[in-house]
Amino acid sequence: MVNIILFGPPGSGKGTQSANLIKKYGLIHLSTGDLLRSEIEAQTPLGLEAKKFMDAGQLVPDEVVIGMISSKLDANPDTRGFIFDGFPRTTAQAEALDKLLTLKKTSISAVLSLEVPEDELIKRLLNRGLTSGRSDDANEDVVKARIVEYHNKTAPVADHYAKYGKFRKIKGSGTIDEIFGLLSKEIDDLVVERV
Ligand code: ADP
Repeated sequence: MVNIILFGPPGSGKGTQSANLIKKYGLIHLSTGDLLRSEIEAQTPLGLEAKKFMDAGQLVPDEVVIGMISSKLDANPDTRGFIFDGFPRTTAQAEALDKLLTLKKTSISAVLSLEVPEDELIKRLLNRGLTSGRSDDANEDVVKARIVEYHNKTAPVADHYAKYGKFRKIKGSGTIDEIFGLLSKEIDDLVVERV
């Protein structure tokens, strides 16, 4: 299997690029943000609990998102691989994911990190807030809180995977096609290495 973590701060383009990458490589897209928003939409107890954290720009508790990912892995036993988008977002989530994949006799192939300057992130998120209907994008204080959470809790996930030589930085500013080209090149190299 090819299992990619698309990594980077809020607004770095993970969702946009994932949508294109799954088409090209036939992988399954697992976005914890999308999964949580569907739970909110369906007004499940999990969704209602998660919403409080999301509206404040804070991370949802680890056990909630780990449980969601675990059931999605179980639900897709025959896939060629996964693109994880917005997960893992803490070192505890990364350790849990590594264990879940080991149980399935697979592992993370690479972590591709979209690098975007912070002023551009804030601009992109507020701009997305005008059309996305996502309340966490429309409010500048919430956007900034999400970036603070990223620095405090998510950035250390990079070191976790760098230890295993799996972490790669990708220039995340430029056109969508340019960035897609850079990501595809990394994935093509992985696929070739495995043949
Ligand atoms: P973005 O990357 O633009 O912040 P997401 O859709 O990935 O957007 O996430 C939106 C919100 O959902 C986050 O601010 C957080 O509250 C919650 N969330 C998503 N994924 C996770 C996760 N892996 N762990 C904890 N909270 C998460």
